[in-house]
Amino acid sequence: MANSSRSEPIEENEPVPFIDLKAQQRRIRSELDAAMARVLDHGQFIMGPEVAELETRLAEFANVRHVITCSSGTDALLMPLMAAEIGLGDAVICPAFTFTATPETIGLIGATPVFVDVDPLTFNIDPSLVAQAVETARGHGLNPKALMSVDLFGQPADYGRLTKIADDLGLFILCDAGQAFGAECLGKKVGQFGCATATSFFPGKPLGCFGDGGAIFTDDDGLAETLRSIRLHGRGSAKYDIVRIGINSRLDTLQAAILIEKLKIFDDELARRDTAAARYSELIGNGAATPFVSPHCRSAWAQYTLKIDPDRRDKVARFLKNSGIPTNVYYPRPLHHQPAYRHFPIAGDCRVSEELPRQVLSLPMHPYLSKTTQIRISEKLQEAIA
Ligand SMILES: *Cc1c(COP(=O)(O)O)cnc(C)c1O
Repeated sequence: MANSSRSEPIEENEPVPFIDLKAQQRRIRSELDAAMARVLDHGQFIMGPEVAELETRLAEFANVRHVITCSSGTDALLMPLMAAEIGLGDAVICPAFTFTATPETIGLIGATPVFVDVDPLTFNIDPSLVAQAVETARGHGLNPKALMSVDLFGQPADYGRLTKIADDLGLFILCDAGQAFGAECLGKKVGQFGCATATSFFPGKPLGCFGDGGAIFTDDDGLAETLRSIRLHGRGSAKYDIVRIGINSRLDTLQAAILIEKLKIFDDELARRDTAAARYSELIGNGAATPFVSPHCRSAWAQYTLKIDPDRRDKVARFLKNSGIPTNVYYPRPLHHQPAYRHFPIAGDCRVSEELPRQVLSLPMHPYLSKTTQIRISEKLQEAIA
């Protein structure tokens, strides 16, 4: 991109980045260079000392007993399902409006995703529909085993209600916090809910590395031990003692070293995201439906997502694009309409999950958005909507 050394666009129509990873890099470039150089010097590229150090720091950050890093957020979802021995004949309940990786991991282990509708304000799974999904699963001759909740766009799901409902129904909760590391619910950090929480360090996520990476958070000692075995091909206490079928899912030492540096500024970045989100909401006012965050939650603001009249949404997106402002539609289709997932059961009608793809529009969001840029974006948005 032109002008990558400048922190903010100057010309009226100069493109705004959707996520400005370069601004963060400029801030801590020398620390990142030094951290990477240390890894090149010691040469322990697989399971080097930075991996354990990062796990300790992430556990402290989220206030959980165990963190198991791995190769991606997708593997972070897959491994707890493997550890819980969920498979053929089992059902895992998940929202219909989410990223593909959520149901993908359920299908990969041979289980059946049962799709549930989401709340129209938070875009997260509607807790009042979980009991119905259990019935739907049973009606299909499946054993309902787990609930995979998603903290969409950075806002935690309604864990106050979900925890109780899952307890009553005997479901294992696996939290998909792929977009929500750093967020909070009921005064607790994401990572402390459910039986385990999975997150992603994909570069565009709130805490991202420079490649693929992920982590699992749990307070369960037994589960943590099983996950550590699964990530190393199912090994037991000795290297060639294989006690279960596992996978190869280690986080690279280089990525761990990078994440240690990024974690040091993460609290500050989360505060900057809060500021940027509040500023957008104030500037946009009644022009479009601004994001609703539950009073019990703090979002990690992976996305700042508006709801716009479906007849105008695409026109607004085109107008913004022509003004140098990128937007994205997360997600253009509910999962139960995707060719790969169409044949799986849905609980109820999933009407909200079908409407949202025609309404949502995510604006540029990152910790280094300036007030000037946000004013320009909101002015163009008002012009587009008018
Ligand atoms: C990004 C994401 C994942 C998967 O993470 P990867 O690191 O890309 O494998 C899973 N779930 C959600 C909700 C995500 O946003």
